[in-house]
Amino acid sequence: MSTISASSLAAALLRQEVLDLHAYHVPESSGYIKLDAMENPYLVPLELRDAIARIVAAAAINRYPDPNATSLKEKIRAVTGLPQGMEVLLGNGSDELIQLLAMAVHKPDAVMFSVEPSFVMYKMIATFTGMRYVGVPLNADFSLDLPATLAAIKRERPALIFLAYPNNPSGNLFSADAMAQIIRAAPGLVVVDEAYYAFASDSFIPCLASYPNLLVMRTFSKLGMAGLRLGFLAGSPAWIGQLEKLRLPYNVGVLPQLVAEKLLGHHEVLLQQAEQIKRDRAKLYQQLSEIAAVKVYASEANFLLFRVADANRVFNGLKQRGVLIKNLNSGHPMLKDCLRVTIGTPDENVKFIAALREVIIQSA
Ligand code: PMP
Repeated sequence: MSTISASSLAAALLRQEVLDLHAYHVPESSGYIKLDAMENPYLVPLELRDAIARIVAAAAINRYPDPNATSLKEKIRAVTGLPQGMEVLLGNGSDELIQLLAMAVHKPDAVMFSVEPSFVMYKMIATFTGMRYVGVPLNADFSLDLPATLAAIKRERPALIFLAYPNNPSGNLFSADAMAQIIRAAPGLVVVDEAYYAFASDSFIPCLASYPNLLVMRTFSKLGMAGLRLGFLAGSPAWIGQLEKLRLPYNVGVLPQLVAEKLLGHHEVLLQQAEQIKRDRAKLYQQLSEIAAVKVYASEANFLLFRVADANRVFNGLKQRGVLIKNLNSGHPMLKDCLRVTIGTPDENVKFIAALREVIIQSA
């Protein structure tokens, strides 16, 4: 029997970047009111679920999926209102597309660039694909610091820029004019990540033809399909055709293809849910802003960022009361004492606010 343990072997053989990484932490959530992951709290109506059950029952899961997902892509084009001539590339969630993009542009010294705080997977994927990552701080109100961003782009010449629009975890839309200046100034590819498009008042999809270095990335995770894992990149065929070469042939399974296609055929149902979430976001924003010890930030996403005196204490107090949200306190210096709550059902939101009031009164 070998005397070398698996852990010392792993430590010797794995890349240092991998050893240094902390895995993306997903907390245990069963039994909690789950408001931590920007999920849509609603299922679709029973009738539609029955129709899906019949589709699933008849699905050829003994066969590999359609590698081109032709009919799903048609539906996506239609519901997205993709400009003439633009193409889509499908991913197993948009996380997979971030990784694919990093692999595609990665030459020695290639830089991945974003603003901070933003979606943590940009930096994480840069690290594990071996790219150098540069993050420029946002202003204190989470707006773009345009002069600093433009100066850093000039200095670093990034191969790949990610801008989340709306941004996660702040929830705001950056100035469209500032975004356009960044896209024009960028020497490399700019990916506008519209994960929260369904809750936002603006999009860069109509601008795709205006910039040769622009791609728009979306996911259906926030629109009620987080469990299916489906995201896409939209852009000119010149980009999409090249990136297709890196996509693993069967990255979107038979069932996600069929179910997403059916759901997108009832897009209006999903959009109605998004409208409900937007109305409830406005209500929750109002309620949070009425609590003196809370500073809440305006959001165009399906969550709200807020700051309290002691985020760890509030987070734990809520958890003790059965409500799980996201504690961002140790994530980034600009997020000190910040928490993020996903908009739930009206009943879940009421329970969250009641628990929050209780915790805050107790710690006053
Ligand atoms: N982009 C942003 C800005 C996100 O917040 C998320 C999910 N939290 C994603 C991309 C990834 O979404 P998914 O992999 O579920 O498509």
